[in-house]
Amino acid sequence: MSNVKVARRDFLRTSLLVGSALPLGAIPLVLKADNHRVSEDNPTAKAMGYLHDATKVDVAKFPRRAGEAGSKQFCNNCKLYQAGSEEGWGGCAIFPGKEVNAKGWCNAWVSA
Ligand code: SF4
Repeated sequence: MSNVKVARRDFLRTSLLVGSALPLGAIPLVLKADNHRVSEDNPTAKAMGYLHDATKVDVAKFPRRAGEAGSKQFCNNCKLYQAGSEEGWGGCAIFPGKEVNAKGWCNAWVSA
């Protein structure tokens, strides 16, 4: 038997042992990470001017967030914001299956 076959068999055996040693509850925590959060690089997010931090919005480009009234607009007071899976994040109809930051903003903001 070649050393390659032995090494491969050892790798598979070790992988099975490590995999079976992980508590099942740890897997969702590992997979959850931040992938439920919408990325600012998402094409829709870019087109809508979405940012996780509304105070960073370029008001020259998105004048709806300019001035006193605009500066009070955040995702958490937008009509499209819904309760999320973690504190400070929530669902939004603009980004199905993703969550936006409560302190974020996009150009589709609607008064609640
Ligand atoms: S539509 Fe409202 S909740 Fe959704 S990203 Fe824009 S401001 Fe935030």
